[in-house]
Amino acid sequence: MDYGFFNGQFISLDSASVNLEDRGYQFGDGIYEVTRVYNGKCFALDRHLARCRRSMRELRIPITYMDEELTAIHYDLIEKSGIKDGAIYFQFTRGTSKRTHAFPDQVIPNLSMTIHESTPNAEQQKNGMRCITCEDIRWLRCDIKSLNLLGNVLAKQAAHDKGVDGTIQFRKDNNLITEGSSSNFFIVKDGLIWTHPTDNYILKGVTRSILMEEIIPKLGYTVVEKAFTPEFALTADEAFATSTSLEVTPVIEIDGQKIGTGTPGPIAKALLEEYQKLVQKECY
Ligand code: PMP
Repeated sequence: MDYGFFNGQFISLDSASVNLEDRGYQFGDGIYEVTRVYNGKCFALDRHLARCRRSMRELRIPITYMDEELTAIHYDLIEKSGIKDGAIYFQFTRGTSKRTHAFPDQVIPNLSMTIHESTPNAEQQKNGMRCITCEDIRWLRCDIKSLNLLGNVLAKQAAHDKGVDGTIQFRKDNNLITEGSSSNFFIVKDGLIWTHPTDNYILKGVTRSILMEEIIPKLGYTVVEKAFTPEFALTADEAFATSTSLEVTPVIEIDGQKIGTGTPGPIAKALLEEYQKLVQKECY
């Protein structure tokens, strides 16, 4: 059963109500995380909690929960919902206060969380995604996982409108690819893996970090953290996207053009296999 948590109380989702003057509603003044649950266990939760703290620090939202508490709430949600395979969403907003742009005094952050059943899209992982490119119109602090997602929403909708699976964004000023609408993006060319460096233009994905720190070195591949153009991506041998939801999913087509052979590439497949082994080790 889908379930929620708001400021200390476990609740069913249809009974939850949030104050109309929560700054998340009025300004998108907050941050969020999505974590995956496999076999009733949280995967890579420590990395998500660390990123959550960083996002809060960058926005000067005070931290009101210890990691141990947040971890316990994750496990309570899993237990109360009975969900074994799913995703937990949590967000902190700056709090509730009469609407005014500057930070209000004496405001306490609101924490809300939901759990839903879901599993990775195995068919897409096997067959790959077809993507389009679109201009990255987001703000200049994409390293913060803020609630402001309109750029990402419009990018994803553009893919839906075109009947494809995803969107890869590029900055118009320099014609460089940044990332997907809710994923990091990689290409493979001449045996090297390329991806955008972690600066203010992309989110430092947990999945990206796991690949870079634990999986890619183990498999003996080399990564260059360097931005590239959409035209360069079209000449790649392989491409793939990573996120908590996608894990590692091959990208087989961009703007109607095949990448490599137009089928999932061997490096993307090897990375996915190794990622799933890590999930097995941590959660089963
Ligand atoms: N970039 C963006 C814009 C995202 O929304 C996400 C998904 N949270 C990612 C990258 C991938 O991050 P992660 O691997 O932590 O899910």
